[in-house]
Amino acid sequence: MEPEEKKEMLRRIPAVDRLLNSQGIREILGIYPRNLVLTAINQVLDKIRRDIQRGNAPSDPSFLTPENLSTKVSERAKILEQPSLRPVINATGVVVHTNLGRSLLAERVLRKFPSIAGGYSNLEYDLAKGKRGSRYSHVEGILKEITSAEAAMVVNNNAAAVLISLETLAKGREVVVSRGQLVEIGGSFRIPEVMRKSGARMVEVGTTNKTHLRDYEDVIGPDTALLLKVHTSNFQVIGFTEEVDAADLVTLAEKYGIPVMEDLGSGCFVDFSKYGLNKEPTVQEALSKGVDLVTFSGDKLLGGPQAGIILGKKRLVEAIRNNQLSRALRIDKLTLLALEETLRIYRDEQAALKEIPTLNIICQPYGTVKKKARRLIRMVGKISTENFAIDLVDGSSKVGGGALPLMVIPTCLLSLKPRRLAAHEIEAALRSNQPPIIARVEKDNVLLDPRTVMDKELKIVANAITSLAEAGA
Ligand SMILES: *Cc1c(COP(=O)(O)O)cnc(C)c1O
Repeated sequence: MEPEEKKEMLRRIPAVDRLLNSQGIREILGIYPRNLVLTAINQVLDKIRRDIQRGNAPSDPSFLTPENLSTKVSERAKILEQPSLRPVINATGVVVHTNLGRSLLAERVLRKFPSIAGGYSNLEYDLAKGKRGSRYSHVEGILKEITSAEAAMVVNNNAAAVLISLETLAKGREVVVSRGQLVEIGGSFRIPEVMRKSGARMVEVGTTNKTHLRDYEDVIGPDTALLLKVHTSNFQVIGFTEEVDAADLVTLAEKYGIPVMEDLGSGCFVDFSKYGLNKEPTVQEALSKGVDLVTFSGDKLLGGPQAGIILGKKRLVEAIRNNQLSRALRIDKLTLLALEETLRIYRDEQAALKEIPTLNIICQPYGTVKKKARRLIRMVGKISTENFAIDLVDGSSKVGGGALPLMVIPTCLLSLKPRRLAAHEIEAALRSNQPPIIARVEKDNVLLDPRTVMDKELKIVANAITSLAEAGA
């Protein structure tokens, strides 16, 4: 298109005012709020201007009539009107999926939301004394009861828990940590950087694969404020490896009168090895070894809301609570409510395994998942399609993307093997379903793991597969 033609085309774009008075847009204004329609109009016109400038616009200018434009505006408005945060179906088999919202809350927890979220509560009010109370009091008692910790405190997430703990205990002083434990979690939490932000000086000891007790002892000096142990939750060094057990670290630290802190990452209360899964260190074990302070997430293996839980010696926890930063990192009442209710379920381990979705999904035996997969196939029914081939294959689910990718659980997968459609086309079509279905692509196969698909979602997945089978036929 010649520059002159482009100019002419740009001139033909109707003004917003004129559009607003057209029949089509007036109808749209009857459906959506005016501001939303204005945004939609501006976005549609901006896109048309860009298309014209790049020479991507149709050469017939009739697409600029108000009728044609209002169709585009209507489509755009419909998209804009959708909430941004929406439910999706997790068919990835990653139970604690950080990108998909980590843990699902238990039904019993959800039922508590209306009264606290929609009403006043004793969030920071001591009902017995009739005066100001502490928001942390609602979870401290139950956390102490479950873990036998001396004291407890909660903040926004585990990253915040580590930050405020280091800031309180070691600002301007030294923290000793093994080179084998300088982890990065989920791209934005890195031990060396959190350490720098806290104002503590990191003293690295040992090597990537081996760190000995004497490595720690060699660097302890008058400036040493803390020995830090970090659970290497998202990788494993295999071969010749050695790390120092928390109990030995505690013995050493006591000799020098220094506290030991452990960032457990996931932090679970249940010993999964009892249920045939990999051993994850429990919070209770860390505390029983004498670790002075442990921190962990509320929404990983614990199966609660996003939160950072800090447990340990009363003196240390109180210092953290009195740190000014605690105000900036504090958790809100909805989180507290969800956390307290989740913790209350842990009073009965069997109830926790049944009711807390994260635990329930992780512990679902292979046979149960296979039954679910077969049900899904039955719901899809007999289909003959050139688009892909459906099969059941064995594979593994994962406990958590950023958290525990090493813990794998045997599962039964529905595989959509590409034929006429490519794997990325199948994956994208499922993702554009309403609600979106998130699958994984492995070795050019699209895999759906029924483990993380709720029973009530099976029919939606089946329908999506059926319509994808019929697509383009
Ligand atoms: C996940 C994790 C964190 C960060 O926890 P968030 O709750 O995501 O802030 C910190 N340390 C370790 C070892 C972790 O596994």
